[in-house]
Amino acid sequence: MAASVPEPENPTIFGRILRGEIPCDQVYADEHCLAFRDVAPQAPVHILVIPRQHLVNLAEAEPDQAALLGHLLLVAAQVAKQEGLTGFRTVINSGEEAGQTVFHLHVHVIGGRPLAWPPG
Ligand code: AMP
Repeated sequence: MAASVPEPENPTIFGRILRGEIPCDQVYADEHCLAFRDVAPQAPVHILVIPRQHLVNLAEAEPDQAALLGHLLLVAAQVAKQEGLTGFRTVINSGEEAGQTVFHLHVHVIGGRPLAWPPG
């Protein structure tokens, strides 16, 4: 996995969750990532998988973070299975125009109801 990148001086809310300064409803954790329930769920199951290493979004990802990105997706599938989902959606919003509001990369895992396509 890629070398650790320091947190910015003003950590995002997810950075603060990783530091243990803000509680979360954790569903999975390992040395590379943390998964917890979204505070404003858009479906019966809505979980966020975030890297422990600070990464702004997919657009800022570097080739040496490929293993980490792959790991986040495998964890997303694992937590979906853990939640009993037979179908689910993974979303990574990158940039304000795409709806990103927290600038620490996160994979949304959404399921538990029929999901329309195209997304809004
Ligand atoms: P995005 O809009 O893709 O950046 O997604 C950010 C997500 O983080 C939103 O779905 C928020 O509801 C969620 N969120 C914000 N603060 C928290 C928090 N403290 N704990 C859990 N989820 C949060």
